[in-house]
Amino acid sequence: MSEENRVCPYCGGHKDKLELLCYYSNENIMWSDYRHLLPQVAVPSLVQKCPHCGKNYIIKASHVLIKDTADFEFIDPVGWNYFSQSYEDYSKLEKDDVVDYNHRLRILGAFNDEFRRIQNPPVPTEQGLHIFKDNMLHLMEYFSDPLDKAEMYREIGLFEECFKQLDMVDDEGNESKRGYKETIFNFAKQGNVSPFGWRAE
Ligand SMILES: [Zn+2]
Repeated sequence: MSEENRVCPYCGGHKDKLELLCYYSNENIMWSDYRHLLPQVAVPSLVQKCPHCGKNYIIKASHVLIKDTADFEFIDPVGWNYFSQSYEDYSKLEKDDVVDYNHRLRILGAFNDEFRRIQNPPVPTEQGLHIFKDNMLHLMEYFSDPLDKAEMYREIGLFEECFKQLDMVDDEGNESKRGYKETIFNFAKQGNVSPFGWRAE
């Protein structure tokens, strides 16, 4: 991580600890919200909060993947709490599409980690749900496949939109795609908004 990412662009203050996102996932399980396949991955959060002036800023490395966390001893792992608290600021920050896509994907994954991917999860607040939906609608703009869009609509509870997208999916001769489509359809019919695990081939 380059030194410039540790300097706040607003007040020039130095940041010793970078916020880090940790993903834990079972090997070979792909999640319908694009969670990683790797059992353990750590990446720096694209949005960092300055400990001196309290402002949020975006780091320069747009898609860094760190597999060896030994190099990063001064990092705090963060999750949904961090994303939800910085969301309003984040929405106003200037960023390119790569940063935006990456960050929004991580917001999606963090929400599901906190509220949906586990047994007996806590209930999100109204504000949290609002952020989740707003984020998903922005994230969706980066996707063109109706199968992706259907799953995204399902996870924010817009089931009619989900069905409309599913109708547009061409799964002719593709068993795996058909199975995936049916799973989305069945969950949507039940009003289920949780992501599901998918065994990668
Ligand atoms: Zn600052």
